[in-house]
Amino acid sequence: MRYAETGFNLEIDLTRGNIERVETDPRDTELYLGGLGTNAKILWDRVPPEVEPFSPDNLLIFSAGLLCGTPATGCNRTIVSTISPQTQLMAFSMMGGFWAPELKYAGYDKVILRGKSPNLVYIWINNDKVEIRDASHLKGKGAVETAELIQQELKEPRAQVAAIGLAGENRVYFASIEQGRSSASRGGIGAVMGDKGVKAVVVRGTRDINVARPAEYMDLCNEVLQYIQFRNENPVPGVMPILAGLGSPQEMKVHDEKWHTENFMWGNSRVRRKDFWNDEIAKEWMETLDSMRTRLISCYNCPMTCGATISPPGLPTYMMKCFSKLTYTMAAFADLEFGLGIAQSATEYGVDGFSTPQVMAFALELLEKGILTDDDFPGMPADNEGRFYWLLDRIVRREGIGDVLANGTYWAAKQIGKGAEEYAHNTIKKHEQLPLKLSMLNPIYFLMYSTGEKINITQIEGQFPQAPFLTMEEREAFVKDWFHVPDDKFKQIFLDWEPRGEKSMPFYPTPEMCCDIVDWQERMHYIDDALGMCAGLSSFPLKPPYHIHNYPKFISAGAGIEMDEEKLTQAVRRYRTLVRANNTRRGMRRKDEKPPADHWKKRFPELEEKLLDTYYQLKGWNKQGIPTKETLHELGLDYVYEDFEKRGVYSENGYTPEQETSAGNEKEA
Ligand code: SF4
Repeated sequence: MRYAETGFNLEIDLTRGNIERVETDPRDTELYLGGLGTNAKILWDRVPPEVEPFSPDNLLIFSAGLLCGTPATGCNRTIVSTISPQTQLMAFSMMGGFWAPELKYAGYDKVILRGKSPNLVYIWINNDKVEIRDASHLKGKGAVETAELIQQELKEPRAQVAAIGLAGENRVYFASIEQGRSSASRGGIGAVMGDKGVKAVVVRGTRDINVARPAEYMDLCNEVLQYIQFRNENPVPGVMPILAGLGSPQEMKVHDEKWHTENFMWGNSRVRRKDFWNDEIAKEWMETLDSMRTRLISCYNCPMTCGATISPPGLPTYMMKCFSKLTYTMAAFADLEFGLGIAQSATEYGVDGFSTPQVMAFALELLEKGILTDDDFPGMPADNEGRFYWLLDRIVRREGIGDVLANGTYWAAKQIGKGAEEYAHNTIKKHEQLPLKLSMLNPIYFLMYSTGEKINITQIEGQFPQAPFLTMEEREAFVKDWFHVPDDKFKQIFLDWEPRGEKSMPFYPTPEMCCDIVDWQERMHYIDDALGMCAGLSSFPLKPPYHIHNYPKFISAGAGIEMDEEKLTQAVRRYRTLVRANNTRRGMRRKDEKPPADHWKKRFPELEEKLLDTYYQLKGWNKQGIPTKETLHELGLDYVYEDFEKRGVYSENGYTPEQETSAGNEKEA
């Protein structure tokens, strides 16, 4: 009997129209857990670096996390993995909502798509019955509209639909997959879905999931619920409102946007508006949010209500959470009403709310600087808001300059030339980052940003406070109930951390301490991504309900895999290293692990090198960030070492298949 997981994957060959239900190896679950972990193993085994993002041999894997579908609160993440057209590395983007538990109830842990369908199709998974159905009537439809049309067509309002919009169909490199109140946006995975000719993957399941020790498991779940209630009643004092509570940042509830609007950059991630937030703006934005936010909503089995339905005047209602509330507004120097309105179109088109506004602001900056001219923007309105709507349409249709911009700022700048690269200044690993640009280097953020392979905001934040507390009294109060730490040394580091003087950033915490903190934060993110847990209840906020001490108990009682902290840490190291190995053999090296040059005003090159060296050493990687033979052996990944050797990865001029051509160009070449 398999517990927590179903033990079956759906393998769908779109070229041949073949559908198979394949039993999985329980040993893989022990070694790599599930979700991201087993996705990384499948990509390693079946997608060598010669396979390009838009090759039929690239896989697109939709995976429910190991504990999805069990009663664990907030455990509802779908982990979508493929090779990204944007970074040309392994992409793994998560979506919340309802899809993953539904897949489990239908009897599957993963849906693995390979090949390409000659016509646009959707996949209908209804328990045992799985069909590839014609979707030609859905061509060009919005992602939310598609979901509604499919539910009507199937007469199944409870079917969960993960769909792409026009952006995915047209292989826009930052196309998302939209689902319920959530989306998997980073890495352009929607473009891979479009390239495979799949408009939607639809699932309805009515079966049960087995849990190994139900009574024990329910006790653990109840403890978590009680703790959530306690934390909701007792926000962490001394930190900004969105960090004081649990859940994915509570952007839909918070009216005070002083911090974001005055600290994050506006436009093409270049302009800080220090005195932006005043009484008038605060009142205007509060009224806008209150009038358009029609209902607060949650993902499956979660009480946190961190998303909302948004009903802009004259537009259909859509769902939103998180920082996309502000991304379009700030990129266009506009008001919140504009941001909530254009996000409706962007959700239907299915694009990443972090990349898209930055790409559009980048285009307008190039126009301003004369690198692009009016001839590149024929018929574009004169007003800023109108320009953003116009650009969004061109991008998702790949029309005119939109065809170039649809490849993201990194590739677009290369294609445009004439100095455009200087303006594509906010990428790491070829991917747009949040416009969070501060004055002084934060060594912990530096490491999370540079070495992170998920490339999203939630991966760079974690359970250690982002800044020191001013007084010792505040620090002592904070550490008092900080039982989440894997080791008490973290409490001492925090107690000693001062806002100024010898024990302040960037030299304190020391590189060794920073690496330990990052290692802890990263470990939690990787556990979440394998179990299917929302980061908002675990790896992202301070003092969350899920942590390194209760996770092993959840896995033991839920999945029946006897687990302790050490064994769990080792499993995470194993699949974290496997993610790195996938990217290593795709050419990723130390040179790629650097934040944008202007990310902080005050930089410390020597310290940054030392931080990377120390981090690599802690991970058991060499100076290039490549896992060593010894590390791979210790983790039972000798097969990775053998592949690296065969490819000459360790040699000085090691195998680096990365070519400076975008995925579309490679395909056409
Ligand atoms: S905390 Fe928020 S984002 Fe996370 S599962 Fe709950 S409702 Fe969804």
